[in-house]
Parts: sequence; structure tokens; C-alpha cells
Amino acid sequence: MLKKMNNSFKKLLIIIGLTTLSSQVMAQTEQERRLQAEKSEVWEPVPEIVSAPANKPPSDAIVLIGNNNTVKLWEGAKKPAMQWHYQNGELTVKAGTGDIKTKQKFCDVQLHIEWKTPVDVSDMQGQQRNNSGLFFQQRYEVQILDSFNNKTYPNGQAASIYKQTIPLVNAMRAPGQWQHYDIIYRAPRFKEQTLEQPGYITVMHNGVVVQNHVEIQGTTEWIGAPSYKAHGCAPLQLQDHGNKVSFRNMWVREL
Ligand code: MG
Repeated sequence: MLKKMNNSFKKLLIIIGLTTLSSQVMAQTEQERRLQAEKSEVWEPVPEIVSAPANKPPSDAIVLIGNNNTVKLWEGAKKPAMQWHYQNGELTVKAGTGDIKTKQKFCDVQLHIEWKTPVDVSDMQGQQRNNSGLFFQQRYEVQILDSFNNKTYPNGQAASIYKQTIPLVNAMRAPGQWQHYDIIYRAPRFKEQTLEQPGYITVMHNGVVVQNHVEIQGTTEWIGAPSYKAHGCAPLQLQDHGNKVSFRNMWVREL
């Protein structure tokens, strides 16, 4: 009887021993796994905090249209003064006064802009129907045009990289409604006079991706092929194509 009990007791001790050992092994393995995982954790740099309230520019954005300062931030592309009409936060092309550009120069940016073309299209067709444009570095145009039921060459419709890249879809709202572009622009890189990397652009039109990290082929040309000529950071430019196109809530974040 005593021998039997001793045997059972021994078995129990063995089981306890094995259990303890295996939980120690498991703990060790868990500890090792944690150490392994820590090797791929990167703790620096800690991203800066940017507040991004709904329907407002992010806290680190430069507001270019929409505040009391707006008029002071722009000038004529070829003349000293900006003559477009600014009222109630809306900047409207004054036909015939020429393109306007920001006084500040930019390279890589995230950009938001809202724009509106007039309801009255009368007999305007194609490229003549309320045309404008947004030029990055004064050279590379994202087309602004009333492309709502308006046939034209697709590499010249709204949200095209003018005469280069057709938008993936036509996300145009009816004339008279505000449209918006959200754009990520990466400037071309030059080493002295030589192109090292072309520019790239991603465009969302009314929240829809229409240009997905597209390569910019060179300076926008109306006639002929685009090409690159070395340059540095440069202003953003808005086009006076002779039509009453309005802009509001334009901001950029330098990247
Ligand atoms: Mg244009």
C-alpha cells in the first residue's frame, strides 16, 4: 500500500516538474520572440503633431486662397500686380489680365484647391468652355476645364496633365458646382543641367483618383513634345484663359 502511494506521489512530482519546465520553456520562448520583435521597432523620429480639423486646412498648411492675406500672396505672372477679383474668400479670373503666380516658391507639395466654372456655357465647346489651369513650378499644368458633357481631346480635359496624361475617369460635377483637386506633387530632380528624376503627380478630382503617381514628361506645351530644362523651386501659377473661373480654399503643405 505504502509502495503504491509512493509510486503515485512520484508520478505526481514528475508531472509537476514537467509542467513547470514546459511553462519555463514557453516563457523563455515568449521572451525571445518579444526581443526578436523589438529589433524591427523604430522609435525615432517621432512624427510631428499636425491637427487636421474637418473641412479646414491642416495646421501646418500654407493657405494661399481663403484668408485676409490672399491678395498679398499673389502677383501677376508677367506683371507686378495681381488683378483678379477677390471677394468672400473666392478668387476669380479677370479675363485678359494674365496668369497669376504665388510670391512664394515651392518644390514638393501636397495641394488642395477648389474651383468652379460658370453655369452659363452658352455655345462654348471643348477647350473654350471655361478653361483655366494650375501650373506646378510654373511649368507643369493640371488642366482646369468644364468637362461636364463637353467633348475635347481627353489629354486636355479637366484633371489631365495637359497634353500628356489622360485622367483615369471623368469625375466632373456640373458647372456652377464647386470641384476640388487634392494633389501630391513631386518635383523633378536635376543634377546641374541634367535631369536625374522626372516629376511625379497624383491627382484626386472630387475625391476620385484620376492620376495615380504619373510621370511628368516635361514642361507643358500646347504645340510639340514636352521636355525638361533644369530649374529650382518655383511659384504655383493659375491660368487666365479668358474665362471667369473661380477658386477658393487653396492650401499647400511643403513636403
Ligand atoms: Mg488650361
